[in-house]
Amino acid sequence: MPADDETARFHHRHPQAALPLSRRQILGTAAVGLAAAALPTSLAIADSADSKVDVLLIGGGIMSATLGVWLDALQPDWSIQMMERLDQVAMESSNGWNNAGTGHSALAELNYTPEKNGKVEIAKAVEINEAFQVTRQFLAHQVRTGVMKDPQTFSNYTPHMSFVWGDDNIAYPKRRWEALKASPLFAGMEYSEDPE
Ligand SMILES: Cc1cc2nc3c(=O)[nH]c(=O)nc-3n(C[C@H](O)[C@H](O)[C@H](O)COP(=O)(O)OP(=O)(O)OC[C@H]3O[C@@H](n4cnc5c(N)ncnc54)[C@H](O)[C@@H]3O)c2cc1C
Repeated sequence: MPADDETARFHHRHPQAALPLSRRQILGTAAVGLAAAALPTSLAIADSADSKVDVLLIGGGIMSATLGVWLDALQPDWSIQMMERLDQVAMESSNGWNNAGTGHSALAELNYTPEKNGKVEIAKAVEINEAFQVTRQFLAHQVRTGVMKDPQTFSNYTPHMSFVWGDDNIAYPKRRWEALKASPLFAGMEYSEDPE
């Protein structure tokens, strides 16, 4: 495949330079497709790199899509382009089949609460959960302003549980719960040794 064909360049705010979408369609999966679709003006594909842009986003994954939407909201007069080397966006890590599909909130992910000298440190978990709340606000704003529709197609609540067994292991989640529940971000967390 020629190099030009390997790099699909998604034009934003340059409808006059845009080619029809017939050769390659922007078909992103999961949130990338939604976020890409949220870019307010035309997204299309060009063949050459002969124009100047204010922002060039390399890669059509969730990071470029989200940053593009953020920047467009904050600085609507900037021209933004997203470049993707594959035939479609969201075919790598951001593809719905290539990741676990959970929002990282540090509720169940034990790696965000390391234990040092018998003390469970929660600073990283708080930072992650705060970022998670900002993401939720961002998505809610997108829905409220009509940019994204039908939120249940891309975001749903589901209970989280961390499960350990063995006398050596159960002390840690208990200490973790005691440390985390002091933060309002984790106030709803419960600890149980009841198999039911
Ligand atoms: C197994 C697994 C499970 C995961 N589970 C979760 C989870 O449950 N929750 C969660 O929040 N995160 C999870 N993640 C992490 C999450 O999937 C990634 O952090 C996220 O998708 C990264 O997005 P990205 O846009 O940076 O990268 P990508 O989605 O990989 O996008 C990068 C894009 O750049 C393109 N590209 C690369 N080089 C070039 C180039 N030179 N020119 C043009 N395009 C280029 C690639 O083709 C690709 O499309 C998981 C990751 C993995 C691997």
